[in-house]
Amino acid sequence: MQITFRGVRGSYPVAAPHSVRYGGNTPCIEVWAGETCLIIDAGTGIRPLGKKLIEQDQREIHLLISHTHWDHVQGFPHFDPQHNENAHIRIYSLTHPDRSLGEIFRTQQQAPFYPVSIDAVEAQIEFLELTDGQPFQIGGAQISCHRLNHPGVTGGYRIEYGGKVLSYISDVDLYGPILLGNGMENGSQEEQQTWHKYLQNSARDLAHRADLMICDTFFLPDEYQPDWGHSRPEDAVRLGAEAQVQSLALFHHEPHRSDEEMDAIQERYREEAPCDLFAAVEGMELSL
Ligand SMILES: [Zn+2]
Ligand SMILES: [Zn+2]
Repeated sequence: MQITFRGVRGSYPVAAPHSVRYGGNTPCIEVWAGETCLIIDAGTGIRPLGKKLIEQDQREIHLLISHTHWDHVQGFPHFDPQHNENAHIRIYSLTHPDRSLGEIFRTQQQAPFYPVSIDAVEAQIEFLELTDGQPFQIGGAQISCHRLNHPGVTGGYRIEYGGKVLSYISDVDLYGPILLGNGMENGSQEEQQTWHKYLQNSARDLAHRADLMICDTFFLPDEYQPDWGHSRPEDAVRLGAEAQVQSLALFHHEPHRSDEEMDAIQERYREEAPCDLFAAVEGMELSL
């Protein structure tokens, strides 16, 4: 598996001197499972990737969306393969209870917000709604998607290919006290306990013995807000230990975090992690 970080910043893109080294684009990961092109999330980092895929005349594109908060989908209108008449773009995400995935993407990409509607582009675009925990296959890759604790409907992904495992767990509050997802919030105390247990097991299943776990570490401990749905590096380190991962990439960096602060965070948590640990950098390429 070949992996390239195309966007590593959470919440909104930043173009400022403080973020030049780690990068300012919002989440997007390019993954090649052999000849199969998988993309995780469509943040602003997807724009240069689209240009590359056009140059390569890549026609089959599989886009795995964690959730439809803006920072994870706002790059899609600028994804040039939409204008390649030979391209077939399949967009996957967990089912929402109240509206279809196609409807959500069409709402983002239409007048007066954007001049070209999804229905007017040249590529064939297909929406595939996923069921929590149900495994599926794309090319030679075995994939599963599990619900995470984050506002709305959010899923993490586990991709297995060629005996290697990549886990993408963002956005999420891994061990927080408050349930945040649609349908989780208003149950009895017993139902809430069941949800907490279910969500923690899901995160462990996604990460189990992963060669690389990419994890939301938006907050530092003194910034933590339990109702936002994000984790701290210590949460990711704890999950990495419980799931026995090989390496951990800190991800979804806070927009105002400077390159120097990112260096210091990486240094600090490297000491306590039971696995390799690094802060994801835009443009970084890895091979599993
Ligand atoms: Zn996000
Ligand atoms: Zn989010």
